[in-house]
Amino acid sequence: MLATPGDGFSSDEVEAVLNPPSAQWTPIHDYDEVHIGALEPGPKYLTFMGRVVNFYDQVKPSKRPEAAQGCLKIMIGDDTGAVTVRLWYANPDYETHLGQLVTVWTMHISHGEQSSLAPNAAPLFTSIFPERERSCHIVFHQNSDNGTMCKKPYRCKDTQTIPGLMTLRNFTDGGYDVDYCKVLVCVKSIGARKKYTNKNGNTSELISMGVFDDTAEASLTLYGAVCGSTSHWQPSHTVLLISNPGWRIDRMAKLSLNANTRIDVDPDMADALWLRSLAQRLTKKEHINPPWPSEIFDTEEAETASVRILYTLADIDEFARANPKERFMGYISVLITELNIVTIFRRQMLMSTECCGIPLYANSTTGKCKQCDKHVPLRINPKIIGPIIDETGQISSGKLIFSDTAWEQLLGRTPEQLVNTDLEVLRYLEQRLLFLRVSLGFGCDGVGEVGRLCIWCVKM
Ligand SMILES: [Zn+2]
Repeated sequence: MLATPGDGFSSDEVEAVLNPPSAQWTPIHDYDEVHIGALEPGPKYLTFMGRVVNFYDQVKPSKRPEAAQGCLKIMIGDDTGAVTVRLWYANPDYETHLGQLVTVWTMHISHGEQSSLAPNAAPLFTSIFPERERSCHIVFHQNSDNGTMCKKPYRCKDTQTIPGLMTLRNFTDGGYDVDYCKVLVCVKSIGARKKYTNKNGNTSELISMGVFDDTAEASLTLYGAVCGSTSHWQPSHTVLLISNPGWRIDRMAKLSLNANTRIDVDPDMADALWLRSLAQRLTKKEHINPPWPSEIFDTEEAETASVRILYTLADIDEFARANPKERFMGYISVLITELNIVTIFRRQMLMSTECCGIPLYANSTTGKCKQCDKHVPLRINPKIIGPIIDETGQISSGKLIFSDTAWEQLLGRTPEQLVNTDLEVLRYLEQRLLFLRVSLGFGCDGVGEVGRLCIWCVKM
């Protein structure tokens, strides 16, 4: 089972196996390495690896200091099966997420048939309490998400389709009744984390996501500890194979996790690659505030170029259509017909960006993403400029990508100064720029995005 170079395992995965991070734990017995599908009930020193495919935190506070304070019920899967690990803890310090690679050492496997100790989807279980028992242990491998180990879904052979796999359309139209039904979906959007109070009066978290395949869209809602998994996921990229989802059919399917659900994150299968590439083609939606493409245009060269070509908007359109792959730079002379600085400032939307696929606005140069809680830099909202025109055409609001330098030349102030400008001064700035003729140095990379001009300098 140990990896050799060149077999597709990442160096992190090899490192994880050869040198488990919790080096202070040394096994005091010999443990047999087994695949999950080969586990059998009974006492035996065993070790196995797999991916976290479902988990649930059962908090059971006890006043006795030696006693466990709760249990993480984790379903761990590989391509041979799934097993339930009941991980008891005194310190609630364990952190995991769907898709994480895990290694378990244990001395006993039990059968959870007819009990609530393990779900039907993974009836074999092991109970471990590593903080108190020397003979069992668990390692959650860090940085293991992108590796390939244990990424093949259950019973997946490349030459055949997975039993029970259906499209979202078929699922919605009655496929949910099929035993072991599975859907393969791509994450479309990740909502904000919300707090809710359950029947017992405890507060917990939930997160609702949009998912889709080539036939339909659905929602997927996660509750409790498993919500944190979404911070490892990326819209239009992360693909989930969901087996036995909880469901409610409404206008569209509303999926959730129940005890029998298994989620394979970015499974190693051809269909997943196909779906991801479809997602990337479909969702090539326009970023609300695309970053300046510094790697595409050499503005220094343009600045010092001996030939400076003045284009009309009609010329650009014609040139870009005739030479769709050509990258070209030049100047346009245009009027700004509308400015929305004051309105947008009042709406607290002067600066913007996208993080985790969600638009983020504020009247400050950084903002906090509601999804990942990271502080991200914001750029000036291009919508403060309304349509621009010349004698031959028009470019609508938000279609220009200004470099930081170009913004500063146009507005006469840095982003930091802009967000701290009085409303009266902003109103004056609007009046000064309205119907002003400006020369804009532009670049156009021509790849089908006529109208999205990159402005690298402004001359008034
Ligand atoms: Zn984010």
